[in-house]
Amino acid sequence: MYDHKEVEEWSERFWQENNIYSKIKARGTRRFEFIDGPPFVTGEIHPGTAWNKCIKDSILRFYRMRGYDVNDTPGFDTHGLPIEVKVEKKLGIENKGEIESRIGIEKFIKECKDFAEQYRNIMTQQLKRFHIWMDWDRPYITFKKEYIERSWKTIKRAWDKGLLKEGDYVVPYCYRCQTTLANYELEYKDLEDPSIYVMFPTFEDGKYLLIWTTTPWTLVANLAVMVNPNEIYLEIERDGKILIVAKKRFENNSIFRDWHVRREFLGKELEGLKYKHPFDDLLKFKFDRKVVLSEEFVSMEDGTGLVHSAPGHGEEDFKVGQRYGLPTFSFVDDEGKYIDVGDGFKGRLCRDMNNEIIEILKERGLLFRRETIKHSYPTCWRCKSPLIYRSTHQWFITITNFRDRMIEEAKRIKWVPNFAMKRFVNFLQNSPDWCISRQRYWGIPLPIWKCDRCENVTVIDKIPDGLEDPHRPYIDQIVFKCDKCGGEMRRVPDVLDVWFDSGNAVWASTGKDVVADFIVEGQDQIRGWFYSLLGSGMIYYNKIPYRAVAMHGFFVDEKGEKMSKSVGNYVPVEEILERVGADAFRLFGLSNNIWEDLKFNWRDLELAKRELFVILNIAKYLEDNHRSVNYVDMKIWDKWLVARLNELKKVYIDSFQSYEYYIAVRALREFIIEDLSRFYMKIVKTNPSSLGTLYHVFLEVLTMLAPITPATAEYIYQKLYRKHHLEESIFMRNIDDPADYDSDLLRNMQRVRGLISEILEWRQREKINLRMPIQEVIISDVSIYPFKEIIADMINAKEISFNKPESSDLSYDGIEVRIIVGNLVDEWLYNEISRRIQFYRKQLGLKKDETIQLLYDGSDAIVEVIDKFKSELAEKTRAELVRNVGLSDGIRYSIKDMELILKKA
Ligand SMILES: [Zn+2]
Ligand SMILES: [Zn+2]
Repeated sequence: MYDHKEVEEWSERFWQENNIYSKIKARGTRRFEFIDGPPFVTGEIHPGTAWNKCIKDSILRFYRMRGYDVNDTPGFDTHGLPIEVKVEKKLGIENKGEIESRIGIEKFIKECKDFAEQYRNIMTQQLKRFHIWMDWDRPYITFKKEYIERSWKTIKRAWDKGLLKEGDYVVPYCYRCQTTLANYELEYKDLEDPSIYVMFPTFEDGKYLLIWTTTPWTLVANLAVMVNPNEIYLEIERDGKILIVAKKRFENNSIFRDWHVRREFLGKELEGLKYKHPFDDLLKFKFDRKVVLSEEFVSMEDGTGLVHSAPGHGEEDFKVGQRYGLPTFSFVDDEGKYIDVGDGFKGRLCRDMNNEIIEILKERGLLFRRETIKHSYPTCWRCKSPLIYRSTHQWFITITNFRDRMIEEAKRIKWVPNFAMKRFVNFLQNSPDWCISRQRYWGIPLPIWKCDRCENVTVIDKIPDGLEDPHRPYIDQIVFKCDKCGGEMRRVPDVLDVWFDSGNAVWASTGKDVVADFIVEGQDQIRGWFYSLLGSGMIYYNKIPYRAVAMHGFFVDEKGEKMSKSVGNYVPVEEILERVGADAFRLFGLSNNIWEDLKFNWRDLELAKRELFVILNIAKYLEDNHRSVNYVDMKIWDKWLVARLNELKKVYIDSFQSYEYYIAVRALREFIIEDLSRFYMKIVKTNPSSLGTLYHVFLEVLTMLAPITPATAEYIYQKLYRKHHLEESIFMRNIDDPADYDSDLLRNMQRVRGLISEILEWRQREKINLRMPIQEVIISDVSIYPFKEIIADMINAKEISFNKPESSDLSYDGIEVRIIVGNLVDEWLYNEISRRIQFYRKQLGLKKDETIQLLYDGSDAIVEVIDKFKSELAEKTRAELVRNVGLSDGIRYSIKDMELILKKA
């Protein structure tokens, strides 16, 4: 069997010892600006990361072999919370406060950097084993000084263009990590939460506003109730109590069954209606609460049509609150605990208070109904805690100022698949301003300085002279003098959202104001990197920083579930490399339709490995049999193979160029298995003159295989072709444009092959062993006359004639076929006997021309055939056959249900 380890290690060694990568890097002329989406360096690589890099590698290798000088700089995303969380764990840090109080920022940063470097090295080693040819000695690393400075440039441009703002915004917030999260960082999970209907008393006795909420803890921060001015509302009554609800909600919810309608009116009539907070007496913050109006945020889809509004804790509440001039501060602190809002609340974790608040409402008779709800709720992508919405002071890129331009730009470029663009545009349409500040440590520091006296702001895009490391805490020590008032300007202590780092990758990694020709990443990057690149590009040079983008699916298990260590369906890359090797993994992964999830399974991996074995076997056959490269006298099937090769080449090049490489990989696999191995190899074995064509075509196949399974292609090239070819490595060969080819020939051969398989099926139905030659086959269609020899060979017929038969045994694609079987048995038995004799000679170790005397006996039919053809057999097998009746101690062969006994005389 194919020894993948030998092949892969051999090629890796060959590349290394001969410095092949550097030699190839120097060859290209036209530039292909690829930008690698940098993976986070938070651990060993997932097989999905390996797959992602194999896709990139095969495309880069393809472009190199088309004469391009490709940018193959690998990237590493090295900042951010993921690393901080790991380092916190390592240092036993329980909460954010300890980073400054116990560890110190300097040590913490050093630990983060060490961690990033450690995993960058591990990941590099692992990725190299998949034969990824990237410039591993010169990667781009987001914590490097020059990368940081180039990212600052973007911030500076945002400031100069008036796109950088600070202010209070309600943002998703993780109180465990004590930081805000961007919209695209949210991970939605199904959570169970209380779902309660609460009666807010109005100043009219027995009359209540009925609201609905799934976050009881935010009731503490309630400052208003929103209603839709254009919807109809009702006063409904039961047992002397009156509730106000929306008509559509009343009609659609069975909880109102026993209530009857008193009055109906438009929502706008409710504006300004005063109400009492349900537990106002427990709260310190006194406020005059009223009904406010909102067309856009009060829906009739769920709830009661009256929305409890806490402007410091909801994005929509915040917007409406600002319109009505309501206070928008947060009622909870950085740790998610209530500020001093009232004695029972102060210092308590907000989400933990849900049940107590429900109890309070119940005691007061203000809880109309309590249910639980399972809903999709945002959680922190790093620590998995449920998030809260909270008003905080942040820095923003005002996306909403240039969102329309962003959408135009996104539509301008090539998307693979096309529907990814639609998904992206949908996402863009709803994207809010981009909160880029994070109250953390391990990140690009915000290059913003603010005067402590006059609030004057300065943004820099150069690392101050003499500052070796621009990270915290060093950068925090830089103080400028305010040019407005002479006061001291200090840095805003935040760091950048880590997605902003990679968003700058195009210019920050290359050091040039270029646009990427191509990027390819997973479908989660619609909300991630595809977005952050676009956002940064709009600020930096007012355009989208990539020309083409391909989106691939997720790497999942056989059932389509996400692969993870905690679920137990995780397969480490080492196991894949051990069992099938990198090339089989690549062949498997690259055959997958790019935008579909890649479902991992050993069966398909083993199949890919077997196909590599088939390829190696063809090479072995050529090595053993091929003598000269001469292929002057081409037969029709040789011409066909060359035409077929060119047809394949066209598909191959077209699909790689449109980044639908998987079409190329599938076509190549089909060519190798169906056309070469199952069909043409059979022809070659009976027509040694075709070896020359095979030799030539197989090299072209290897050249196309090289970007896909580099080690196997190189290995065979070196063993079989290097002695006749100049190129030191297969990767120095070019993938040339296809030559013109005769498509009629291809079509005819297609028909011929169809016809052959029809006749073979006929033989099977008639139970005529393929070894028995049939007498004659009469074929009605003379246009396939040139293929006569192949047909005869493949179906084992003595004669093929072209005529209109009187009657036909089968027809295929308009071709009528008559089969004259003839006397099969003698002929067949003769062949079978002669094969046994040859085999016996071999066992005896006889030379080719040595003659021998053999005693024989056996079943009557066999004895009969030997008697009849004794002299032919003697000539063919150089054996004089002597009958020995009752021979019992010879070698016994069975031929069907008959027996032949042979013994050396
Ligand atoms: Zn968190
Ligand atoms: Zn000042």
